[in-house]
Amino acid sequence: MNVLRLILGDQLNYSHSWYTSCYSNVIYLMMEIRQETDYVLHHRQKVQAFFAAMRQFAKWLRKNGHRVKYLSLNDAENSQSLSANVKACIADLNIERFEYQYPDEYRLDRMLRNLSTDLSVPVKAVDTEHFLYTRGQSAGFFTQKKAPRLEYFYRTIRREFGILMEGNKPAGGKWNYDTENRLPYKGTPVVPVPLVFRNNIEKIDSALDSGGVNTMGTADSRILFWPVNREQSLKLLGHFTQQCLPWFGTYEDAMSSQYWSMFHSRLSFALNTKMLNPGEVVSAALETWQDDKSRISLPQIEGFIRQIIGWREYMRGLYWAYMPGYAAMNYFAHTRALPHWYWTGETKMNCLAACIRQSLEKAYAHHIQRLMVLGNFALLAGVHPDHVDTWYLGIYIDAVQWAEITNTRGMSQFADGGIAASKPYVSSARYINRMSDYCKTCIYNQGENTGACACPFNSMYWDFFLRHRELLSANPRIMLMYSMWDRFKKAKQYAILDRAAYCLEHVNEL
Ligand code: FAD
Ligand code: SF4
Repeated sequence: MNVLRLILGDQLNYSHSWYTSCYSNVIYLMMEIRQETDYVLHHRQKVQAFFAAMRQFAKWLRKNGHRVKYLSLNDAENSQSLSANVKACIADLNIERFEYQYPDEYRLDRMLRNLSTDLSVPVKAVDTEHFLYTRGQSAGFFTQKKAPRLEYFYRTIRREFGILMEGNKPAGGKWNYDTENRLPYKGTPVVPVPLVFRNNIEKIDSALDSGGVNTMGTADSRILFWPVNREQSLKLLGHFTQQCLPWFGTYEDAMSSQYWSMFHSRLSFALNTKMLNPGEVVSAALETWQDDKSRISLPQIEGFIRQIIGWREYMRGLYWAYMPGYAAMNYFAHTRALPHWYWTGETKMNCLAACIRQSLEKAYAHHIQRLMVLGNFALLAGVHPDHVDTWYLGIYIDAVQWAEITNTRGMSQFADGGIAASKPYVSSARYINRMSDYCKTCIYNQGENTGACACPFNSMYWDFFLRHRELLSANPRIMLMYSMWDRFKKAKQYAILDRAAYCLEHVNEL
């Protein structure tokens, strides 16, 4: 029986059980299609990286004796549609069964389900064998009466997989070492030079040009620095555990205009394409910690493990529990368009200019830049979550919808009304000034609320809370803000709101 097995661009799992044996009747189908390059405006490096990683994966399959049908972007027989290409292959290759791995994106999941009912051959769907929990298991947490917070999910998964446990107790006696982490960076210790690769992507880049694929951001037309195969992904993991892990937790929230990735791992692309498995990332980090506890403290390893088995798995569960409705949530009924400078970095606000320019240059910003600068401003300005989603889904190298939308619409924009986060992640300049050096060279004054030089974040922060008083004042984590505001003198309140009104009206010129 001839079998066609589909491999999507984010299903590059080198350890999947599909590949343990070679069968002459099994053909693996991979495709570069306009359907995927064009559904949102992607960063050019993101398209380059996905295609380069897919080509490397196909090469590895062939080297290991598997049969591969690879449709390059501009192949004449490529119809640019997933369904049409699958149908054509089934007809042309005399296929008698079609198999696919469950997609991680709702849109593709629906598409493949619909396609399955439309095909004349039997269809089988299998797990991607990537995440710790299956899709149903992680989504199951959210179908309980009250959506569980990350902490509950994280403790359950740690217990179940015996990660950082001493018997029934968490290692060191505490589940969470946040209070010992999250310091601003003051120039020491030395931030490691980020490990980058020199992948030749000339052919891919010219295919994008000749195909007329529209992209954003800057990119080299010859060299791509992101990891595009298993070997490079493992090297990056090794670099992280050896060089960055000793300070990961401490400076997890620190931002610096000098260092674009600080002590972060930059593993998200390798993880989201499945070139790396979360289980092996956790094991590698734990092993390094076990071998070198004098250099890597418990708060560092715990902080990192929480990202991989906590946040990452949690967001995936949330996605499958709430899609497709999640993509339409807009708790604050925000309507504004994203300021145009999100696409150029041309704003006088130094923190935003730095984070946007970095994102355009590297297709990367670390978590706090995404959350407390870029997302913070969009939320304070009342930008429609659709616009925010589109931007985030396009610009970042790791942006796949299950990880993007839950973070953007949920954690960052609170558009889900509090499923992902217990309160909106907004701040005034005080937080940005404490955690970064951006304010030092900004033309706005981080310490002022009113007047033409006052940092826009400060007045917009208060304005946001007042605009949404009805929705937020009962939140126990926010109540204090309202009593603080009510104690301000009337004149101060008016001046702050005046400045906010100016900033909101002239948001494109800030
Ligand atoms: P590190 O800081 O080194 O963390 C290690 C790993 O933990 C990451 O590689 C990632 O796999 C995982 N992780 C950490 N936090 C999260 C989280 N909140 N959700 C999911 N995984 C997490 N992550 C994406 O993978 N894709 C996205 O499209 C994405 N969009 C985001 C949008 C916003 C508004 C925010 C606030 C966060 C977003 N994140 C997204 C989460 C996080 O910012 C990135 O995973 C991280 O910055 C990637 O860089 P890193 O690999 O250096 O991460
Ligand atoms: Fe950003 Fe305000 Fe600081 Fe300027 S002063 S860098 S706008 S937080």
